[in-house]
Amino acid sequence: MRCRVAIVGAGPAGLLLAHLLDAAGIESVLIERQSAEHVASRIRAGILESGTVDLLRRAGLGDRLDEEGMEHRGIYLQWPGERHHLDFVNLAGRSVWVYGQTEVTKDLMAARRRAEQAAYYNASDVEVHDADTERPSVTFIDEAGDAQRIKAEIVAGCDGYHGPSKQAVPQAVRHTWERNYPFAWLGILADVAPSSNELIYAWHPDGFALHSMRSHSVGRFYLQVAPDEDIAEWSDDRIWHNLATRFALDGWKLDTGTITEKSVLPMRSFVTTPMRRGRLFLAGDAAHIVPPTGAKGLNLAVADVALLSRAIADLLLRKDSRAADAYCETALNRVWRCTHFSWWMTTMLHRHGDDFDAELQLSQLRRIVDSPSAATELAQNYAGLPIPLSTLD
Ligand SMILES: Cc1cc2nc3c(=O)[nH]c(=O)nc-3n(C[C@H](O)[C@H](O)[C@H](O)COP(=O)(O)OP(=O)(O)OC[C@H]3O[C@@H](n4cnc5c(N)ncnc54)[C@H](O)[C@@H]3O)c2cc1C
Repeated sequence: MRCRVAIVGAGPAGLLLAHLLDAAGIESVLIERQSAEHVASRIRAGILESGTVDLLRRAGLGDRLDEEGMEHRGIYLQWPGERHHLDFVNLAGRSVWVYGQTEVTKDLMAARRRAEQAAYYNASDVEVHDADTERPSVTFIDEAGDAQRIKAEIVAGCDGYHGPSKQAVPQAVRHTWERNYPFAWLGILADVAPSSNELIYAWHPDGFALHSMRSHSVGRFYLQVAPDEDIAEWSDDRIWHNLATRFALDGWKLDTGTITEKSVLPMRSFVTTPMRRGRLFLAGDAAHIVPPTGAKGLNLAVADVALLSRAIADLLLRKDSRAADAYCETALNRVWRCTHFSWWMTTMLHRHGDDFDAELQLSQLRRIVDSPSAATELAQNYAGLPIPLSTLD
C-alpha cells in the first residue's frame, strides 16, 4: 500500500498530526500497536495550555472542550500552614484548561473516523525502513495476522517512549539525555467533586501532593512515593489519609470518594536527537519525556505536531524543504525550555536530599509568591509559549 505520510502511533501526537495533515489535503495512514478502545481509555495528562486549546478549536475540535472543559486562571502553591494563589491571567495574560487527554483522544479519533482515512489498530512487529531514502516504509502485522508494508513519502514517529521509530535513527548519530528521579507518583482517579476550584501543588515534609481534577465530579490526585512503591500496600484509606495530611490547611477540608483507578507513574526526563533522520520525523513522547509536574508532556506533543504538519505540507505540496530542515532545531528549543521547567518544578516540590535542600525549596516557594517577577516566570512557563504555526495558518 502507498500513502503520502505513514504515522506510527495513534496517541495525541499521531492523531493530531493526521488531523492537521488532512486539513491541508494530505492523506495519511495511522499504525497503532494497541486497540482503539485501549487508546481511547488511557488515563494520562489533563491540563491544556491556552495555545493548545486555541489550536484544537481552530482545528474544529473545540465543541466538547468548550462545553465540558474547565478554564483555570492559575494554580495554588502550598506548604505547611500556607496556601497561595498564582493568577496566570494577571501574570502572563493566559489561562489553562482542565480537559483530560482521554477526551482529547476521543475527539481526535472521532475526527479521524469522519475523515474516512486508514487506521490500523492492533498492529504488531511495527518497523520503520529506509528512513534515509526518498521512499521510506513501515512494515507490520495487521490484526488479521497479515503482513503489511506501507510505502510513504514521509514517516512520522509518534509512537511514544517505548515505540520503535527512534530505533530507525542509527545509534552512531543518536544522542540521548536522561534523568531518572528518585521518586514516583501514585496517581488516583476518584468519583468526588474537587475540593478546590483550581489545582493545588503542595510541598510537605512527607512528600509532594497534587490535587487535580478531570471534571466537576471526578478528582485526580497524586502522592510522591518511592520509585519501587508496591501499589498493593496503598489501601484507599491510606491514600486519603496521606492526601488529607499533605493538603491540611486550617478551615479547608478534603472531600473523599470512591477510587476508580490507581497507578504508579515513574518520573523521568528524556530527550533524544536528532528528531529528524532523512524522511523520518519524531514527535511527542517518541523524542522527549518530561516529569508531569509542569503539565507539559501533552502540550509539547501538540507543539511538535503543529510545527511538523506545516513542515510536511511545505515539503510535499510546495517542494519547500526549509521548515523540514529546521524542524529538529526549532522543536528542540521548546523541548529544552519545557524540560528545564518540568525539572525545576519537580526538584522544587518533591522531598529529596536533606534538611538543607528542604529549606532551599521552601525559600524558592516563598520567593515565587512574594516576587511578581518570580511568579511571572512560573506563570509564563506553565501557561505555555505560543504554539508554532501549523497547516491551519
Ligand atoms: C502512564 C502515563 C501517565 C501519564 N500521566 C500524565 C499526567 O498525569 N500528566 C501529564 O501532564 N502527563 C502525563 N503523561 C504524559 C502525556 O500523557 C504524554 O506526554 C502524551 O501522551 C504524549 O503523547 P504522544 O502521542 O507523544 O505519546 P503517547 O500518548 O505515548 O502515544 C504513543 C502511541 O504510540 C503507540 N505505540 C507504542 N509502540 C508502538 C508500536 N510498536 N507500534 C505502533 N504504535 C506504537 C502507543 O500505543 C501510543 O498509542 C503520562 C504519560 C504516561 C505514559
